[in-house]
Amino acid sequence: MNDIQTVPVELGEDRYDITIGSGLLADLGARLKTLLGPERVTVITDQNVSRLYARTVVDALEGAGIACKTLTIPPGEGSKSWETAKRLYDGLAERRHTRTHPIVALGGGVVGDLAGFVAATWMRGVPVVQCPTTLEAAIDAAVGGKTAINHEAGKNLIGAFHQPKAVICDVDCLKTLEPRHFRAALAESIKQALIRDPAFLEWQEAHFSDVFALDQSVVTSLIARNCEIKASVVADDEREDLTGPPRRAALNFGHTFGHAFETLPSIGLLHGEAVSLGMVAELDLAVRHVGLPDGDRERAEKLIRSLQSVVKYDLKAAAGALFEKMKLDKKVVGGVRFAVPSRLGQTEWLENVPVESLRAALSRVIGFCEDRSAN
Ligand code: NAD
Repeated sequence: MNDIQTVPVELGEDRYDITIGSGLLADLGARLKTLLGPERVTVITDQNVSRLYARTVVDALEGAGIACKTLTIPPGEGSKSWETAKRLYDGLAERRHTRTHPIVALGGGVVGDLAGFVAATWMRGVPVVQCPTTLEAAIDAAVGGKTAINHEAGKNLIGAFHQPKAVICDVDCLKTLEPRHFRAALAESIKQALIRDPAFLEWQEAHFSDVFALDQSVVTSLIARNCEIKASVVADDEREDLTGPPRRAALNFGHTFGHAFETLPSIGLLHGEAVSLGMVAELDLAVRHVGLPDGDRERAEKLIRSLQSVVKYDLKAAAGALFEKMKLDKKVVGGVRFAVPSRLGQTEWLENVPVESLRAALSRVIGFCEDRSAN
């Protein structure tokens, strides 16, 4: 059965729907026609996704009477750059892409962030429709309106908030995704459950084996629940207000440590893998400092371990460099606030963390990796 689920993102005039299900790319033209009625669109995608899905999308758009041009970028984080953005602006100029013509972002989080940024800035903002083709993009990047490119000084430093007109997620695309990418992205799914929804954590414990087997209706339900959580967080705090208790900022749980892991080249982690380990570290801080029950931490770690990443991390060898990196990174030691769960589904700020606790959290991660490679 092809069940299609719709999740609304309630943002007043900027409200939009996330549609999740099988066969949606083949239906994209008809959906866009109803939603925006465009005469033409520009599709932005990367080379890998283009090879797999551009034909379906172009046929669907042209079949619905929408003229369509495709701009293709190289795959990978390196494309979230000024140079690639400039090439896209050149392509839009050449095609006389006006303010009424939507951009369709077809791809993973890299395409979504870059095409979203270009849409936010071209002619002071043109409509964008996000068509995520990775699990990371489906449950996180495509929803919520954060768009960005990178700067030498750091990731996502140049960006804009620009909500899409719609998110259309064809779950069939996930079948061609590398299993390592799919599993890594489940870290973000677990993160959302931990910060917002204990019942979803229970669902994950019961259903991850079907998710790993790519059972279409179970994967659709997982994405839909994640989108509901992200939509409610975004509707509550669209611009990530940093005063008061963590709301949208709670989505950064696992990311402060995760960032240090991700940027250590000798380890070579995907973003989701780094977030997995970041959560293990920050759960340790939560147990130590804000009273998260040890049993809740055990449940979370068990679920993270079940992702069974193909990478064997040798964090012990990298521990010294990691700790030095964190000490140098003023974001970490110089008073960064961690948003951590004090109990399942609820986060609070943790500030002025002593260096010994950071060291202990790192030891916990090293032990976690050793346990896993022993399995
Ligand atoms: P990605 O976009 O680089 O995609 C991963 C790889 O999979 C790429 O090589 C891509 O070409 C390929 N690919 C994409 N779809 C495929 C498919 N269906 N079949 C086969 N291959 C496919 O990586 P990602 O993990 O999707 O996204 C990571 C990016 O998302 C990062 O830049 C991160 O900063 C960003 N992000 C943004 C937000 C946000 O709120 N804006 C949230 C989370 C992550």
